[in-house]
Amino acid sequence: MSEAREALNFLEHIIEDDLENGYQKSQLRFRFPPEPNGYLHIGHASSICLNFGLGLKYGAPVNLRFDDTNPAKEETAYVEAIKKDVKWLGFSWDTERYASDYFQQLYDWAVQLIEGGKAYVDSQSSEEMAEQKGTPTEVGTNSPFRNRTVAENLALFSGMKKGDFEEGTHVLRAKIDMGAPNMLMRDPIMYRILNKAHHRTNTDWCIYPMYDWAHGESDYLEQVTHSLCTLEFLPHRELYDWFLDQIYEADKVRPKQREFARRNLSHTVVSKRKLLQLVENNVVNGWDDPRMPTISGLRRRGYTPESIVAFADTIGIAKRENLIDVSLLEFHVRDHLNKIAPRVMGVLNPLKLVITNYPEGKEEYVTAENNPGDSDAGSREVPFSRELYIEKEDFKEEANRKFFRLKLGGEVRLKNGYIIKAESCTKDTEGNITEVQCTYDPKSKSGSGTEESLRKVKGTLHWVSISHAISAEVRLYDRLFTDESPDTHKDKDFMDFVNPDSLQVITAYVEPSLKNAKEQDRVQFQRMGYFCVDRDSTPDKLVFNKTVGLRDTWAKIAEKA
Ligand code: ATP
Ligand code: MG
Repeated sequence: MSEAREALNFLEHIIEDDLENGYQKSQLRFRFPPEPNGYLHIGHASSICLNFGLGLKYGAPVNLRFDDTNPAKEETAYVEAIKKDVKWLGFSWDTERYASDYFQQLYDWAVQLIEGGKAYVDSQSSEEMAEQKGTPTEVGTNSPFRNRTVAENLALFSGMKKGDFEEGTHVLRAKIDMGAPNMLMRDPIMYRILNKAHHRTNTDWCIYPMYDWAHGESDYLEQVTHSLCTLEFLPHRELYDWFLDQIYEADKVRPKQREFARRNLSHTVVSKRKLLQLVENNVVNGWDDPRMPTISGLRRRGYTPESIVAFADTIGIAKRENLIDVSLLEFHVRDHLNKIAPRVMGVLNPLKLVITNYPEGKEEYVTAENNPGDSDAGSREVPFSRELYIEKEDFKEEANRKFFRLKLGGEVRLKNGYIIKAESCTKDTEGNITEVQCTYDPKSKSGSGTEESLRKVKGTLHWVSISHAISAEVRLYDRLFTDESPDTHKDKDFMDFVNPDSLQVITAYVEPSLKNAKEQDRVQFQRMGYFCVDRDSTPDKLVFNKTVGLRDTWAKIAEKA
């Protein structure tokens, strides 16, 4: 096997084989087929990157197809959210399609199946049909309605369409084999009556096609060559092919269903149904809550599309399901934000610091680079004065030699500013430190070129000038679930593992350059992590979400445990 060939994933091998065996490259066509019953999540990102990635690789069109055959759960709002997310990830579809575009064609084909003796109307209850289904080891039983005449079936099916019957009174079933080893082949339901308005066809229809009947035929109508779906559809492939056999015309492309493993992310759930439960039970504040593994939640949290695509590309596709640690996703966003996020100073847990030998009322500016790793990022001026906030954790009265921050009698450099020495501190009645008094070396200003400015001290602290700082709401997030794999426990519901402390809201103080920060702006609060302006932010009140810390603290905790 050539090296280039070895580097392909198993789906690309299938496509390459098809190209060798008669398919034209120009015939290749893919689709991404979400059901508009919720928001896209990180698992969908894998499917999006796979399908659109193949489109880019082979120069083939990729359709965005909404699989909207269940009006009970689908909404236009979800359609809009899905389109926004796919675009935001950086992909463009060839055409926007809906399974509902094909309702008439699907109906006509169903009539054709009835005429050919391949489908019949069953008028039993769903319980009766379930009883006749058999088990994987026992064959099923034929329905008493299985041998209805074509005329009778046509009349009933037309009555179903016209709305002559109540929900649950009749279904259309494919007439395949009640003894088939694959239970899905035991006369599967093709249509059911649903008196529900559809988000696109409104009340035009009161019968709706089942997934298996709609999906492959939609692929066929769009002339999709490779219909890639997740592994749970593997047993459906036989039915997919059976349905295609009924309508296939020789000069057309015959779509192929092929399966890959679903991607699961640790400490969360990736299933729209379960995510909806979190939304409906107010465990989170909506689909785009920054704790959600939805694309919109990740966006609001501060993730970049590049980092999500890089994550999906890194994990690639697989034949078997496994759990991907969320720290890998975090690695990718940290990696990207490190390159692009401007550095700023923000104090999350403030402690007042007074420079006793700095003139009262004086203010000056220090120059700070926006991104030391990117010389094009420029610099800004940050105000400095006698009273500052530093991080509470950055001061201790006494500490050992490994504490490179501020301690009494010790020195640190204030980032981009001066070297200071802690002289004393003040405490409240409970012994909590409320203020630190220090002195500064006026000749030590960073960048001033003096001997003192070049003097090295062990620690550098970030800070803000109290009189210039802006207060901001900062939302800190932790894992939404305490368990690595919350939805895989036999005896417990995934909701039992919701982390009660996944959100902490604090007031932080940030440098004034952030005054006009806009929704979605991403910054690094130096030494603290990456943060993104939330959409709740207003000109009067900044709100930040913590995207991710600078280091993987979770891995360290896990190591210790
Ligand atoms: P959910 O269970 O979350 O509703 P779904 O499979 O029902 O997911 P669809 O909207 O039908 O969601 O999915 C659109 C496409 O995305 C399908 O081809 C599906 O196989 C794929 N997909 C969904 N979840 C994942 C996942 N976790 N990993 C990879 N692909 C996924
Ligand atoms: Mg689904």
